[in-house]
Amino acid sequence: MDYSQFFNTALNRLHDERRYRVFADLERIAGRFPHATWHSPKGSRSVVIWCSNDYLGMGQHPKVVGAMVETATRVGTGAGGTRNIAGTHHPLVQLEAELADLHGKEASLLFTSGYVSNQTGISTLAKLIPNCLILSDALNHNSMIEGVRQAGCERQIFRHNDVAHLEELLIAAGPDRPKLIVCESLYSMDGDVAPLGKICDLAEQYGAMTYLDEVHAVGMYGPRGGGIAERDGVMHRIDIVEGTLAKAFGCLGGYIAGRAEVIDAVRSYAPGFIFTTALPPAICSAATAAIRHLKTSNWERERHQDRAARTKAILTAAGLPVMSSDTHIVPLFVGDPEKCKRASDLLLEDHGIYIQPINYPTVAKGTERLRITPSPYHDDGLIDALAEALLQVWDRLGLPLHQKSLAAE
Ligand SMILES: *Cc1c(COP(=O)(O)O)cnc(C)c1O
Repeated sequence: MDYSQFFNTALNRLHDERRYRVFADLERIAGRFPHATWHSPKGSRSVVIWCSNDYLGMGQHPKVVGAMVETATRVGTGAGGTRNIAGTHHPLVQLEAELADLHGKEASLLFTSGYVSNQTGISTLAKLIPNCLILSDALNHNSMIEGVRQAGCERQIFRHNDVAHLEELLIAAGPDRPKLIVCESLYSMDGDVAPLGKICDLAEQYGAMTYLDEVHAVGMYGPRGGGIAERDGVMHRIDIVEGTLAKAFGCLGGYIAGRAEVIDAVRSYAPGFIFTTALPPAICSAATAAIRHLKTSNWERERHQDRAARTKAILTAAGLPVMSSDTHIVPLFVGDPEKCKRASDLLLEDHGIYIQPINYPTVAKGTERLRITPSPYHDDGLIDALAEALLQVWDRLGLPLHQKSLAAE
């Protein structure tokens, strides 16, 4: 039997559909974010990263790096076991307390990643609720979809951010059926925000539990970085908040936060929590340092919003097809997988600008895009250079520009 053919056929399918992925081999330079070295097939080159999810540059913050180095030096590298068998270490316990406090909840629980927290968190919660009906937003992240799927219970998908549709489903389910609403606060491919106040109203009215993914908002929104729910004043009305330590907090790991008995039950039943080694102490200390810093420092949040606004304004004024977004995400419409990949390649090779193409299945076919994420450290010069490079690439690929607005002249 020729087993290789199965894999080659699968790979060829991706090549045919223009969605075979190539990873850029990068080496970030602490202290010079967003500058990095790209180890290209033709040698090393200096590039500027414009698509990092280290949104605030906390992955290079001296307090965060310092905490990681200090802790590793003091207590060593790995956790040495699962949480139950020697792996529950003090920096991890401190981090869980920090996260509970961040979201104003009684307790929190740490996982290996945000992905795992959604997958094992949602499936475990729903399995513990008899006859649970999951109501899930149509654009939820793959980790949530996997959690819902593994829950094995009935699920219904409501149209993206459509509270009227959600209400219909809640009414149809009836007051006696246990219901779990699963959604994100900030959808990171379009940069739009869920109507959380209204969702909480519905949840209370129809007796549903709420599970909110704040992965793209923690650290960045709310006066202490508690996310969109904190910003909108509804954090206390959300039953379970889920977040990551890998994006704005610049480290690694995921978590859920909520009432004590909910967290204790997930701790006691979730396979993806129980049967895996705990996160290393150095990572936990670094994450705690990042969270603590962002609880009191608004500089990063304000500068982040300012940079995103300027990037949108400059690109829009240049006639580039910036998709409307309410947040720090700057999506640039391409609408063709081949051209999206080509645009990304040209930016990197000719301009030293790294923006990974976003193609199907991450976004719907026909909505391929470049997803730009300005950070506090992308200065005016870098933004202007980005606009200039994009215009040249748009011209070379024959991509359409909008009419320049008069205001931009
Ligand atoms: C990135 C992401 C996750 C996964 O978080 P990781 O910590 O990277 O595993 C979960 N939800 C959403 C919406 C994400 O974009």
